[in-house]
Amino acid sequence: MPKIPAAERASELRNLPQVDRLSGALPQSAAPTLRVAAARRAIADASDAILAGKPAPSFDEIVAAASGVLEAQRRRRLRRVVNATGVLLHTNLGRAPLSEEAQQLMAEVGAGYSNLEFDLARGRRGSRYDHSTEMLTTLTRAESALVVNNNAAAVLLALAGLARGREAIISRGELIEIGGEFRIPEILAESGAIMREVGTTNRTHLKDYANAMGPDTGAILKVHPSNYEVTGFTASVPSRQLAELARSNGVAFISDVGSGLLSRNLPGGVPEWLTREPAVADAVDEGADVVTFSGDKLLGGPQAGILVGRSEALSKLRRSPLLRAFRTDKTTLAALDATLAAYLEGNLSRIPFWRMALLPAGEIESRARALAEELPVEQAKVDVEPGFSTTGGGSAPSSRIPTAVLRIAPQTAGAQDLSAALLASDPPVVARIEDGALLIDLRTVAPADDSTVGAALRKALGGSSAS
Ligand SMILES: *Cc1c(COP(=O)(O)O)cnc(C)c1O
Repeated sequence: MPKIPAAERASELRNLPQVDRLSGALPQSAAPTLRVAAARRAIADASDAILAGKPAPSFDEIVAAASGVLEAQRRRRLRRVVNATGVLLHTNLGRAPLSEEAQQLMAEVGAGYSNLEFDLARGRRGSRYDHSTEMLTTLTRAESALVVNNNAAAVLLALAGLARGREAIISRGELIEIGGEFRIPEILAESGAIMREVGTTNRTHLKDYANAMGPDTGAILKVHPSNYEVTGFTASVPSRQLAELARSNGVAFISDVGSGLLSRNLPGGVPEWLTREPAVADAVDEGADVVTFSGDKLLGGPQAGILVGRSEALSKLRRSPLLRAFRTDKTTLAALDATLAAYLEGNLSRIPFWRMALLPAGEIESRARALAEELPVEQAKVDVEPGFSTTGGGSAPSSRIPTAVLRIAPQTAGAQDLSAALLASDPPVVARIEDGALLIDLRTVAPADDSTVGAALRKALGGSSAS
């Protein structure tokens, strides 16, 4: 470290720009408060550097540092991105995109007043849960329904409302973790129910559940192990048998199906890669008292936790104080209503998840080829080849949807640099990296955004060759 005399350091500190002068030199597009804060930060950093014996930065360097602070702030704000990963329900990217109808109803209900808790037929107070209940019961043939903030809350509410202070019996093969924060043993502990594990990781039999049944039992919990599979020498108990065992012992049967494929009788049928996914309507039919699932997974709606099942069990949950804590807001309920209406009307193509999931690979390939033709071949090796999209979001772990991917292997810079350049573009483009190449899967890109991806790629490839 170069030794700087104290007097020289003091003069360098005195010569640092005033906050006003520096903030005045920052891009005027940023609000004054933000410019002043960024200026203060940059001046403080510069003074730390001087005190640490580093050379004093020039005015221009301090301006650049402050602009960097502003830019970093801007990039941390919530904004739209283009999802070119081919992961349809990418939790980090906000899971399911909403339908036009959902967006419109959200905007209308959000912008003004609504009949959220008002019964227009009777002219008096109503319930915010009534709007979606009728559609949900029609679609799943359940007696009743309830909506909360997410499926984690739905499971917690069901356990707390039906088994608090008593035992909830669960197979050791279903003590799962989904996405870090959702771990069944922890949710059980939070709910106040006592976990009673039965069976083994790979095999659990009806007698295991029956033997655990006693005066302290409050519920049987079945959890769909969404994001992993046990294969080989395995056994689990069909829901119908668990429902019978629960009923004959007077305890509740709670079934968390997670991903929320509403039924097997969807218009157009269920695609082959979803055949092993449990359907909500089947879980209801098999006798569960409460079935829980997410609103923003295979349903293709907003973040929500949906509970459907028997009236008796759901009335208990409606009286739980937790329900108030898990209450969904009006815009969520609006988006959910519009999404469910598309199912009722048999028009799944209105829901972006289904529209994208059912795109034929050939169509994606044509779009990828059109994109490839506009890329500078001298900067990268570009191929269009078969690949797989996935559902993501903790549904159907082995689901591989045939697609076509654009594989870009940059000549000079690495795939990491190319990816970073795409993330810095506006809107940011998120792609996959595999074997040192960048992969673009247009299945999850709206066709209107193909040109956005193309422009971002051309700029990134041009830029990376110059460096
Ligand atoms: C995804 C999932 C959850 C969590 O649902 P969120 O809506 O993300 O809270 C719980 N259980 C299962 C089986 C899941 O697949």
